Amino acid sequence: MTSTVITNIRTLVTNDPALGDGGPLGLVEDAAVVLDGDRVAWVGRAADAPAADSAYDAEGRAALPGFVDSHSHLLFGGDRTAEFNARMSGRPYTAGGIRTTVAATREAGDDELARNLRRFLDEARRQGTTTMETKSGYGLTPEQESRALRVAAGQTDEVTYMGAHIVAPEYADDPAAYVDLVTGPMLDACAPYARWVDVFCEKGAFDGDQARAVLTAGRAKGLVPRIHANQLSPGPGVRLAVELGAASADHCTHLGDADVDALADAEETVATLLPGCEFSTRAVYPDARRLLDAGATVALSTDCNPGSSFTSSMPFCVAIAVREMGMTPDEAVWSATAGGARALRRTDVGRLSPGARADLTLLDAPSHVHLAYRPGVPLTTRVWHRGTPVAM
Ligand SMILES: [Zn+2]
Repeated sequence: MTSTVITNIRTLVTNDPALGDGGPLGLVEDAAVVLDGDRVAWVGRAADAPAADSAYDAEGRAALPGFVDSHSHLLFGGDRTAEFNARMSGRPYTAGGIRTTVAATREAGDDELARNLRRFLDEARRQGTTTMETKSGYGLTPEQESRALRVAAGQTDEVTYMGAHIVAPEYADDPAAYVDLVTGPMLDACAPYARWVDVFCEKGAFDGDQARAVLTAGRAKGLVPRIHANQLSPGPGVRLAVELGAASADHCTHLGDADVDALADAEETVATLLPGCEFSTRAVYPDARRLLDAGATVALSTDCNPGSSFTSSMPFCVAIAVREMGMTPDEAVWSATAGGARALRRTDVGRLSPGARADLTLLDAPSHVHLAYRPGVPLTTRVWHRGTPVAM
């Protein structure tokens, strides 16, 4: 293994409070990091850094852990430009939303799905994302869902089975039979490729009882629950997530006091906020401040998907979270790195301390605050993923 010392870092975010100042961010000024193979070997003041096989001069830039994007839908075919254009132009759009993508995904070959996924993972990595979850949910048959997850498992280790995205068009008149399929043969076909099980708990998708059935069936097959909860309207999703010990309740836009209390008291369930979705649909943003003040753990993620949030940019989500959701820059950066790791129950990513995976993002700025201060500017200049520089 070869080691590299990255030195002359103006501000380093470690997300380890024991290593520095700034509370949870564990900030170190005038810092250095030593990467050894695919691990972080040493973190501290540049003046104290040990020798390494090679050195990289960060020239006074800021460094932070690679972003952990814990929620995306990248296994799809086709495109929904027309739908977005109509929505933003005030025109009614009556084609089928998710169903449009289901039709295009079923038509796509395995190679096309794999190429598409590769493209988005690379695109995200060039913006500093070094861990990315992705879900099925545009195939909606046992064969289609399992082949999408097989494609995903070849490219990322955070794979989620979401046959319960919407009721498949073939089952529009018999949603109970579709739930039986999702919790039966489809689950059997998909479980070998997935770590997580997810369900869209919402009016027009799956109600609380159906969501419970999907998640408990997945859990019985060794998958860990996560939920699309309270996105478009109030509902039982958040409380179900906490009750079942889900890793995360995602969206959390329409919350009552009981939902906030449940998330604040939750030992195992992270509130994952997806502001790209509200941005792209002109919807009201979730209230991150309320969740943080109550004591909930908050993650930020892109929800990258062709319908409601077609961005792979975590810096963009950080900027919106600060401007529109009441988060401080420090909170938003924590939520986009350590928060995402928490939502994926990972301890090896989302931090830069000895033993962590060597995933590091260098910004063309002296401070991580610039992610919110300079929105829309491509600040990510260099990314190390598992200790290897990413082609930019
Ligand atoms: Zn989603």
